[in-house]
Amino acid sequence: MKDTPNILIVDDTPANLTVLGTMLTAQGFKVRPAINGQVALTAARATPPDLILLDINMPGMNGYEVCQQLKNDPKTADVPIIFISALDEIQDKVRAFQVGGVDYITKPFHVEEVNARVRAHLAIEFQRREIQALNTFKDELLRIVSHDLKNPINVFLGYTDMLLEDYSEGHTHEILVKMRRSSQKMWRLVSDLLDVARAEDEVAFDIRQVRLHPLLRQLIEEQEMGAEQKDIHIHFEPDDREVSVHVDKNRFGQVMSNLLSNAIKYTPDGGTITVSTQVDNDSVRVKVIDTGLGIPAESIPHLFEKFYRVPSASHMAREGTGLGLAIVKTITERMNGTIGVESELGKGSCFWVSLPCQ
Ligand code: ADP
Repeated sequence: MKDTPNILIVDDTPANLTVLGTMLTAQGFKVRPAINGQVALTAARATPPDLILLDINMPGMNGYEVCQQLKNDPKTADVPIIFISALDEIQDKVRAFQVGGVDYITKPFHVEEVNARVRAHLAIEFQRREIQALNTFKDELLRIVSHDLKNPINVFLGYTDMLLEDYSEGHTHEILVKMRRSSQKMWRLVSDLLDVARAEDEVAFDIRQVRLHPLLRQLIEEQEMGAEQKDIHIHFEPDDREVSVHVDKNRFGQVMSNLLSNAIKYTPDGGTITVSTQVDNDSVRVKVIDTGLGIPAESIPHLFEKFYRVPSASHMAREGTGLGLAIVKTITERMNGTIGVESELGKGSCFWVSLPCQ
């Protein structure tokens, strides 16, 4: 432990404060005593401790109430609380955990026991903080890296394309083609990473009521060129009932574009893709069905995990990052929808998204 851990002891019996205080100070902890609940709340809010030892039976505000107030305050909500009670008040234990305590120590105190429990919970608390800090750092890093890499890669791609116009054959042409392929790969990874970060962003959704079928027609049209290059036809089979969905139009566009481009990518030339909708009371299911490679059963549970790609030679032969479906799932769930897949290896796949509708 880096800094000396700071422990707040709350007990209305001065003798107990002295016993525990002396015991823990001798172990090298910084200790603050509080003689009642109100004093404890003021002290904890002023400087949140690393851990609190909290007596249950106190006149005025009891330990449970103090605990609840601490848990309701974002500043102190994460501080681990170990309750203290007399041995004969066993029924208190359940309640102590219900209100958010992490452990329970009975009086009379045993030095080794108090010490062991305090150290164990401090260790957990410090690990929790470390994980939180690392997660925040990871998210921030992802955002910065993807943002700041996207532009230079675009510039690089633009110049490569320009040079390719001058060198349409020969050795230089071959090198330029390789350079373009690599930078396209980088660009895809960076923009997928950015999309993951955006999809996970708490605030940025602009939800509006949108008519589903015209939107789907438009989104299918956007993919038709890519499909035609592989001689793949996209059919649209909408339900007879016209419905509206509550979505962020751009994000829904991302969902469909990922599902459709996957269907195109993982379907051999000359295949067929069908987009259908089925309305059922207050929800609508949009299906993207392809006649492509299909997905082995053991891969299905992992498909929506970040970076997962089906580890077969034919799937791997197609370029990808393994992030598209993770993005699709996050976006769909943020719009109160659900997502799923049915697939048979060698026959094709059906990815579906269900959304509440009107
Ligand atoms: P990728 O960028 O690799 O396409 P995705 O997250 O979009 O990543 O998809 C994850 C994996 O799921 C893909 O690598 C592929 O193996 C498999 N997959 C996705 N869509 C299909 C599909 N329509 N047919 C067969 N396999 C698919």
